[in-house]
Amino acid sequence: MDPGLSARALDQLQTVFGYPAFRGQQKEIVEHVASGGDALVLMPTGGGKSLCYQIPALLRDGVGVVVSPLIALMQDQVDALAEVGVRAAFLNSTQTYEESMRIERLVRTGEIDLVYVAPERLMTQRCLDLFQASKIALFAIDEAHCVSQWGHDFRPEYIKLSILHEQFPDVPRIALTATADQQTRAEIALRLQLGDARQFVSSFDRPNIRYQIVEKGNGRKQLLDFITTEHGSDAGIVYCLSRKKVEETADFLNENGIRALPYHAGMDYPKRSANQARFLREESIVMVATIAFGMGIDKPDVRFVCHLDLPKSIEGYYQETGRAGRDGMPASAWMAYGLQDVVLQRRMIDESEADETFKRVLSMKLDAMLGLCETLSCRRVRLLEYFGEQSTPCGNCDTCLIPPVSFDGTVPVQKLLSAIYRVDQRFAAGHVIDVLRGVETDRIKQWHHDSLSVYGIGSERTEAEWRAILRQAIALGLITVDHEVYSSLKLTDAARPVLKGGQKVQLRQYQKPVKQKRAPSAS
Ligand code: ADP
Ligand code: ZN
Repeated sequence: MDPGLSARALDQLQTVFGYPAFRGQQKEIVEHVASGGDALVLMPTGGGKSLCYQIPALLRDGVGVVVSPLIALMQDQVDALAEVGVRAAFLNSTQTYEESMRIERLVRTGEIDLVYVAPERLMTQRCLDLFQASKIALFAIDEAHCVSQWGHDFRPEYIKLSILHEQFPDVPRIALTATADQQTRAEIALRLQLGDARQFVSSFDRPNIRYQIVEKGNGRKQLLDFITTEHGSDAGIVYCLSRKKVEETADFLNENGIRALPYHAGMDYPKRSANQARFLREESIVMVATIAFGMGIDKPDVRFVCHLDLPKSIEGYYQETGRAGRDGMPASAWMAYGLQDVVLQRRMIDESEADETFKRVLSMKLDAMLGLCETLSCRRVRLLEYFGEQSTPCGNCDTCLIPPVSFDGTVPVQKLLSAIYRVDQRFAAGHVIDVLRGVETDRIKQWHHDSLSVYGIGSERTEAEWRAILRQAIALGLITVDHEVYSSLKLTDAARPVLKGGQKVQLRQYQKPVKQKRAPSAS
């Protein structure tokens, strides 16, 4: 490595960007890429990924090419760079022909330091020819997880980016993402031909975020209580699964004195972007959105991110909650979760068009997410473990602050499993619970289920308690829901040792959804 490189890198950081020192692994990454090495950078949102390619682009001869799917943010990025005197521009479908001609000329003559380009644009012959005819300092592939077919941000054109390696073998490439699981990492390395690239993996801990996952009662009401007691006038994001629920939840919050805006892909573009602009600009405002909202959103003072529906995977949960507290100040990640979420997410996998392999991957991801919801130990430990990081209990999540009460749930689970078995695995949750509780319904009479040995053996528990037990039994993989046949409950092979008494089951004590209690402050 060039001995003066280190000093020149630091000089750029201080004189151009105005920061006194590199953060985390930035120094190593900048030096590695500036000296021509390939890199795969995994760093949480807000970690400072941009400088990892901006400074090497300034240090190397030629133009740095930044591939990004976030066309809407390119203008902002270019403006921010212009402010510190870096010559940057973008090439995408929003500009006029004349404007792109002008930028192309600047690239060719090297009168520019950085050019942002959308992947579909880069793949055009015209653009590849342009870069062949120009001096390229590096290729930065931002949001590199978009290459992963298993992830929810998959962009087919990202896969084609492997040709950069073939067509520009001497230009260093740096791929960056805030998604950290092993599988995505392996897929990026494979698909972008970055197998030999040096990997820089930062800690994914976001210590200022407090994680809370509560049992869902009336989710919307719980959400309102949470916001009013803990975040009265803060900015936040509320994620819902469906567009309809987004609209309804935003209305509900507005009716109850919380300023909220909806955002989902079904809204027309002007309305959507107007809402996004308001959210970025204003201080005390809540965005109620589907997961269509958020990638690349840089609002540092988002104080809370709530989930009214269960995310499909821990990666999704982590990315969405990661939009809270980018400024490093205390922030909350809050979620309400219940039996219906488990049933619905399982059904979405069963009914999806995906092939069996894909379904298996989705199902494993969901299981990991359920494990996080049901855990009796520190949420952060579980979360980081998923990303391959070891840690110790954090003291800043619900399970650390108010340890959940667990109990030996073997007997109630056995009762539940027997009841499902006795009704021939042909009935849905409501009926099975009625049988357990010994309720007299027409259906029970019609099927003579009041004469079963299991009738009324669970009368000591409320319906809500049984639902919580059922939810955990499904999460543990003892029971499945057959969506083809009336959502009937069925036993899995894993249920046998529990039924036979050879295996014990530890459960989380049901906690009645009560008005949100203020948790002790983190600071
Ligand atoms: P990411 O892309 O990883 O989400 P950014 O590159 O947008 O993160 O950086 C997040 C914030 O941290 C930005 O406001 C950036 O200016 C700031 N930042 C990055 N590196 C440093 C540093 N070395 N010192 C101080 N602030 C930094
Ligand atoms: Zn914890």
